[in-house]
This record gives sequence, structure tokens and C-alpha cells, in this order.
Amino acid sequence: MSHTESLAGVRVVVTAGPTREPIDPVRYISNRSSGKMGFAVAKAAHQAGAQVTLVSGPVSLATPTGVNRIKVESAAEMHDVVQQFISGADIFIAAAAVADYRPQQSAAQKIKKHSDTMHLELVRNPDILASVAALDNAPFTVGFAAETQDMEANARSKLMGKRLDMIAANQVGNKVAFDQDDNELLVIWRGGSKLLPMQDKQTLATNLVACIARQYRIAHSREEKQ
Ligand code: C5P
Repeated sequence: MSHTESLAGVRVVVTAGPTREPIDPVRYISNRSSGKMGFAVAKAAHQAGAQVTLVSGPVSLATPTGVNRIKVESAAEMHDVVQQFISGADIFIAAAAVADYRPQQSAAQKIKKHSDTMHLELVRNPDILASVAALDNAPFTVGFAAETQDMEANARSKLMGKRLDMIAANQVGNKVAFDQDDNELLVIWRGGSKLLPMQDKQTLATNLVACIARQYRIAHSREEKQ
């Protein structure tokens, strides 16, 4: 690892996994995220020397050694925990597949089946990544863009729209990326891009973290000069 790829003394917050949005005490809305990419990124950041906090939705993965893991369930909880830990963070990497919507109300008791159809009112969840990027003194922010079509264009519009420093885009679809051990990423920042070809998620995470570290160092030295 070169000096520019080291994260020694750098504080990193990573989100990972899916969120669960409660419908009633026994049911929820969620998605197929396994958390593998986020956990691999947390491990790689720790190996690069960073002090890592991993805010994770429900997954069946072991916490990487040396990483401080905080378990959450819903997007609202993930948002609250991230807000708590973000002041003092240097880099924020949002790998979680946060549910975009949650049921407006979570029923106190298990909902009974009465009629043939059921209406569920959904409301938007907060965008955790965009809210961190909008902070005064925002850390270096990295998002992921899982796209089924027009990957690069959609990723670039997310980079600009959410005011991120970097975005890692991947193609998703049936059996691609979600819950798989291998993945490919197109990493885009304002001044350039890099394709990290298909490889196992841990090696990919190590390469992604090296790429983040390089751009973080460049952004950081620019800030110090100002
Ligand atoms: O807009 P989209 O959901 O595709 O953006 C994906 C990126 O935004 C990911 O990095 C994801 O972790 C983050 N995100 C978030 N909070 C949300 C939705 C997405 O942090 N509510």
C-alpha cells in the first residue's frame, strides 16, 4: 500500500445491508441486499488503517475484526445513528440499500386479513447519503449506484444531484451484484473515473478503498491549501 492509499488516522463511517420498514410487529418491507459489499468495504478501510464505524441493517455476516459495528433495522434508525457518528468523520461511504419508502404507520398489532385487497400507504424515507453530503463540514462522501439501465449517466446524475465526492456504479439485474460474491464497479469522481473489473467483493473493496483514499488525500490537501 502506498502512502496515498493509507487511511491511518482517518475516521470512516460505512453503511451496509438492507433496511426493514415495519408494517406491523411481524411484517416488514425490505430488499435483497446481503451487506457483503459494505462489510467488505469496512474491512478494507480498517486494513488500510482507518478507524471504522459500520452502521448495518439486518444481515447474516460476521463483524470484521477491529470494526465498530452498530446494528439498526429501519432507514429512520440508520439515519439517526449516522447523524450521531458523522461529526468527526472524515469519509462517509454509503453502501446500504436503504428502503426508499416506509409504511406511513406501523400497526401496533398484527394486521388481520379481512378483504381481498389491502392498501398500504408509503411515505419517503430520508436520503441518508444526501443529508450527510449537505452538512456544513461534510466528510468526503461516497455513494453507490445500482442501476439496471443507463448506468454511467444515472451514476453521474446521482454524483451531482446528491453533491457527492465519488460514486461507485454497478449494473444490477437478475443474479447480478445482489447477494453475489463477485462484482464490477465503475468509480466516478468529479475529475475522473476508473473501472474496477469483475472480481471478488473483498478484492474489489480493497481496490475501491485505495481509490477513495487517493481522491480523499487530493481533496484534503486542496482544502488545507485554501
Ligand atoms: O438514489 P439511490 O437510492 O439510487 O442512491 C443510492 C445511494 O444513496 C447509495 O449510496 C445508498 O446507500 C444511498 N441512499 C441513502 N439513503 C437513502 C437512499 C439511498 O443513503 N434513503
